[in-house]
Amino acid sequence: MDASTGLPGRPESSLSPGRPEFTERMEAARALDAGALAALLSDPDPRTTARLAAAADETMRAEVGDAVRFRGLLEFSNVCRADCLYCGIRRSNGTVHRYTLSRDDVLAAARHCVEAGYGSLTLQAGERRDAAFIDYVCRLLESIKTETRGPALPDGLGITLSVGEQSPEVYRRFFEAGAHRYLLRIETSSPELYARIHPPAQRYADRRAALHAVRDAGFQVGTGVMIGLAGQTVWDLADDIRFFAIEGVDMIGMGPYLPHASTPMGSGQHMSDDERAQLLDRTLRMIALTRIVLRDVNIAATTALQTLDAFGRERALQGGANVVMPVVTPVAMRSGYQLYDGKACVDEDPTMCAGCITGRVAWTGRPVEANRWGDAPHFARRKQG
Ligand code: SF4
Repeated sequence: MDASTGLPGRPESSLSPGRPEFTERMEAARALDAGALAALLSDPDPRTTARLAAAADETMRAEVGDAVRFRGLLEFSNVCRADCLYCGIRRSNGTVHRYTLSRDDVLAAARHCVEAGYGSLTLQAGERRDAAFIDYVCRLLESIKTETRGPALPDGLGITLSVGEQSPEVYRRFFEAGAHRYLLRIETSSPELYARIHPPAQRYADRRAALHAVRDAGFQVGTGVMIGLAGQTVWDLADDIRFFAIEGVDMIGMGPYLPHASTPMGSGQHMSDDERAQLLDRTLRMIALTRIVLRDVNIAATTALQTLDAFGRERALQGGANVVMPVVTPVAMRSGYQLYDGKACVDEDPTMCAGCITGRVAWTGRPVEANRWGDAPHFARRKQG
């Protein structure tokens, strides 16, 4: 056992890197063999990406079905107390115009989700721990639940909340107010890498403890990582997948690391076309392998993927992902929620997003699951023990 991560030590892989037995590697990867995971992530044969996508698609259809689940994504505040070194809305970025949506704007966005048939809403904001903010979020959750009940959704919209690290008591309050899923990305399962992309006050151990508190509060637990960080190896990424499995998370949202020029990590960075293509390939392999290993979880095709490649989200949907999150943030506020440069969908109003995303999903040949919360089967199985 590695004391810093809590992950079991990496077993010696029984597979030498040069051996071509794809199926054998897949089986070893399913058994959390780090060597097999790393070999599949780094295999220079370009056909490996398509093979992994096909295997992931087969696993997804068997375990969670072929329907794509929608969550309207509402970025309701960009005020944040944290200072993550990669993030465009970090506290220290004085160039950002800060906003917090009013209750009326939040409820209008929630009603739009109902009308569009999304079934679920993801409420996301920067991290604040002051009492006024916590109370505001609790009241929003209660109001959304009350106002969105109807024939199509007798229990109202399903709500995923993502407002960072909070105390166990606050997580319990959010759960009781009506949120039933919570997203808290670990960003990397490597404590060393985590320390390099956060200021000293933001500790890996605290993030890990918060993830456990989210689970203890009763939430379906979502997490995720960034792919393509400087110094990140395929062994780190293999450990990320092992982390998801060992933590038993229910939902995963992974995306490429995309730099923001007004951050310590992103300043002066530029990616060549080759680097973008490699990053896309690695991200798609991570999504496919995560599906193959974790099987019955929900996996998002993220906006960051579409920013990296015009068809990034569709390719993720063809290789293991089953959730998309059309943005429902009012257009006037969207430019204020740029965690990275060049974010896709900044100029489209929610109605345009609904048409665009539905067309994109139709292009993949997958049906849409309308008016459902779309929970991961993994959660129900986890609760049964
Ligand atoms: S990543 Fe989240 S917690 Fe970190 S600075 Fe950005 S909004 Fe705040």
